[in-house]
Amino acid sequence: MNRTKDTRISRRGIMIAGGLLAGAACMSSPALAKMPLAKAQAPGFYRRNLGAFEVTAALDGDLDLELSLFTGDQKDIEKLSAQSYQSSPPRIHCNAFAVNTGEKLYLVDTGSGALMGSSLGRAAANLVLAGINLDQIDAVLLTHLHPDHVGGLTVEGRPAFKNADIYVSEDDAKFWLSAEVADKAPAQMKPFFQMARDAIKPYAHRLKPLPKKGEIASGVTVISLPGHTAGHTGYLFSSGKDQMLVWGDIVHNAALQFARPEITLAFDTDQQQAAQARKRAFDMAATDRLLVAGMHLPWPGIGYVEKSGELYRYHPDFWSTRL
Ligand SMILES: [Zn+2]
Repeated sequence: MNRTKDTRISRRGIMIAGGLLAGAACMSSPALAKMPLAKAQAPGFYRRNLGAFEVTAALDGDLDLELSLFTGDQKDIEKLSAQSYQSSPPRIHCNAFAVNTGEKLYLVDTGSGALMGSSLGRAAANLVLAGINLDQIDAVLLTHLHPDHVGGLTVEGRPAFKNADIYVSEDDAKFWLSAEVADKAPAQMKPFFQMARDAIKPYAHRLKPLPKKGEIASGVTVISLPGHTAGHTGYLFSSGKDQMLVWGDIVHNAALQFARPEITLAFDTDQQQAAQARKRAFDMAATDRLLVAGMHLPWPGIGYVEKSGELYRYHPDFWSTRL
């Protein structure tokens, strides 16, 4: 097939098409029903390579995250948000990331499943749209045990990833899966414990403890980033010269927290530690020119961190993609 010939637009062709369109407009045609508004975001998955590995970002959905949940001078936070054209309240994305090393297929976090309403919970469906067979996922690497990260583990009490081992930090497991800690927690926190336990339950025989650092498999290194939760963990994927740090919830609102890494979230278990972990992750990413992937970075949640003096900036990945 001669593609050039097929796709050529000629002046004569345009004139003929124009004439046909004009003729068609004169003919009476039955009225079409109005196109209904879609009321749903379109992107499902985004793919790029990482050395010899392949990364697939899957969108779980989006949610409002009120500015009042962030700590610090509220006037300052509101100004910073408005300057970045964020809606009020800001809408943030939830992402999950599959990494196929060619040997193993990993999934980092699972989205919310059925736990957090209809604007979320599409990560598994989007992975399937991306051509990923959920039964082929060898391991789910959890950054922490909050519902928007573990809810997708189960579907009506059954495992969504039949053949996967589940990796979770011991500190998060000790906290969120403990009946004693849950008993002592304030009433509004109790559902979070229950959701974590329900999500993990069908995998009890396949739970793998995570070391605080070091490789868990070739090209997969654990990076401890505690603060948002006690055992909050990042995963550094390395293939050849390319590296990507999947950093979980190091950033919840990119417009606020790249400009001011000290701004923390009410849900952070240890505010000070969370801010320190954020600065550490930013410095590591900027110094080593790492690709970063974040569960709440703007879709598709993959980009780079620039450090200039004491200031950090986020650069999305879109223009560097090549498969
Ligand atoms: Zn989260």
